[in-house]
Amino acid sequence: MLAQALEHVFGFSSFRAGQESVISQIMQGESACAIFPTGAGKSLCYQLPATQLPHLTLVISPLLALMHDQIAFMRRKGIAAATIDSTQTPEQTKQVMEQIRRGDIKVLMISVERLNNERFRQFIAPIPISLLVVDEAHCISEWGHNFRPDYLKLPAYREQLNIPQVLLLTATATPAVVEDMQRKFAISSNNTTLTGFYRPNLHLNVVAVEEAQKQQALIKQLQPDPHLPTVIYVTQQQTAENIAEWLQTQHIPATAYHAGMNHETRVSIQEAFMSGRAPCIVATIAFGMGVDKVDIRRVIHFDLPKSIENYSQEIGRAGRDGENATCTVLANQSSLNVLENFIYGDTPDKAAIQGVLEDIKQAGQQWEVMLHSLSRTYNIRLLPLKTLLVYLEMAGVITSQYSYFADVKFQCVASPDTITA
Ligand code: ADP
Ligand code: MG
Repeated sequence: MLAQALEHVFGFSSFRAGQESVISQIMQGESACAIFPTGAGKSLCYQLPATQLPHLTLVISPLLALMHDQIAFMRRKGIAAATIDSTQTPEQTKQVMEQIRRGDIKVLMISVERLNNERFRQFIAPIPISLLVVDEAHCISEWGHNFRPDYLKLPAYREQLNIPQVLLLTATATPAVVEDMQRKFAISSNNTTLTGFYRPNLHLNVVAVEEAQKQQALIKQLQPDPHLPTVIYVTQQQTAENIAEWLQTQHIPATAYHAGMNHETRVSIQEAFMSGRAPCIVATIAFGMGVDKVDIRRVIHFDLPKSIENYSQEIGRAGRDGENATCTVLANQSSLNVLENFIYGDTPDKAAIQGVLEDIKQAGQQWEVMLHSLSRTYNIRLLPLKTLLVYLEMAGVITSQYSYFADVKFQCVASPDTITA
């Protein structure tokens, strides 16, 4: 019956990994949590049940662009989907509210801020809701890379609105974040579906390079085929501008993208990238969410990613069509120093850092488990510490059981002596 709906409504011939188990749990009236990598098809886990459930499916989504993409997709499939958001005129909002009251809407997508709005909650309170979906649900966890305090209120709103079932969606598999999400929404681990994160078509590598040689190293990566769809991640907006300009002088068709640009400019760059007119984007982390380009062939980290979660999400955008893609980190000693400074920012004592690193080495395979208590003992923020660990791991100084990398083979070009542990 589910397979029929899959074919009939969506035109898909089979479920992808994890989808069927999550969807069955929802159809049995239970709550569930789906942890699939980016591009694996999490949205279908609510879109299909929404067509079968008696009442409204309410989806909390962190990004307007994502919402609009999903709504357009559902409408193409004949699903009555709508949003109430800040880009609408009061007249449009009134119209959507009227449709919801009449029971004509199957899926309503909103931001968490909307649900925070008392008047909106008064409006929605009498409407029967079958399912609450929290997309990018890791936003509820302080341990996650994208914590949004407003998400903490969601479990209470769920109670207030009497919503019988919840579905959490995320690509973040950090054990601490997963536990935290499960606890906050009272979802049992039996109803948590985690698919493999191994993507055999992604070829990860780290190139050890002196700071002064980084631009040359970048060119070397790009020149064999300057027109391949590529995202180059940098930390700062100014770097994005500078690198894009410099690449242009080297005959690489590069375009900068960052949050300092106005909305129209950003949208037009995204469109140019999607269509292939602007194949090479030099971007800050502002770029990515909601960019549904399946044939990105290269993701290059010119600067180190902020955290292991960021790294995983950013490389996760490559090769979503299943074809080969390369993910390259240009790493050097000074970028590690920046990370160490992050850590020192919270702990003036260098001995403490060395203590942590010693303890981690001693802990061996157990280091992930020890991380939380270590970070408390030494008063160190968790994320930069984890990032440092990833680089230690890449350089072969430690081995880890970290879930993202458990079955990913690093082609490690960095030599251990580039890292001072
Ligand atoms: P995620 O949210 O996990 O990053 P999406 O839900 O946006 O991924 O899905 C990525 C793409 O995969 C979408 O274009 C979606 O239509 C497609 N997709 C999802 N499930 C299937 C399926 N069973 N068969 C074919 N395509 C699918
Ligand atoms: Mg998604």
